[in-house]
Amino acid sequence: MKEVNELISGFRRFQKRYFSEDRALYERLTRQGQSPKVMIVACCDSRVDPVIITDSDPGDLFVVRNVANLVPPCEVGGGYHGTSAALEFAVSVLRVSQLIVMGHARCGGIRALLEEVPEQSIPSGFIAPWMSIVEEARNEVRAAFPDVATEARDRACEQAAIRISLHNLMGFPFVREAVSAGRLTLHGWYFDLERGELLCHSSATNAFEVTVAHL
Ligand SMILES: [Zn+2]
Repeated sequence: MKEVNELISGFRRFQKRYFSEDRALYERLTRQGQSPKVMIVACCDSRVDPVIITDSDPGDLFVVRNVANLVPPCEVGGGYHGTSAALEFAVSVLRVSQLIVMGHARCGGIRALLEEVPEQSIPSGFIAPWMSIVEEARNEVRAAFPDVATEARDRACEQAAIRISLHNLMGFPFVREAVSAGRLTLHGWYFDLERGELLCHSSATNAFEVTVAHL
């Protein structure tokens, strides 16, 4: 666990690289602006940084992170729609060609959804309403795994939530139009941080299939 002073030291190490091997890259990104081809919707969880796990460089990925990597339904008016704003910018302005919703094993947000963490233990009560976006996933796995809390149930719920987010993405007119025009492809990914595996959603089977197996 890093303390802030360690982060400052980390910035110094980054700065040395910035003014040496990465200089040309940052100069180009400053001059030309960003033009990532890929957007990833990922979880806030500190263990699942998309840039780290895809070994990407600055400028490669447009990332929005939120609790449990959810895409909300397309709603206009009212509220502050941070994830929707990021989607709009990535698809309509940056014109990314790939959009990935990346869930992961041992997701605390999904665990809270399944266990229905009492509101009083979370004083401001923002998490439960947010997680209600995927309450259908909870209902689905409760029916499939009655009366038991298991790792299999958690994984099923984590993956069902990704399917709901993929479905919600198609509710955004700019996403739907880009997909039907063939300039945007949607992907569902599941990072198994225990086994070090990557599973990808297959639209043919609607299942998550091991794409990169553990070493
Ligand atoms: Zn998570």
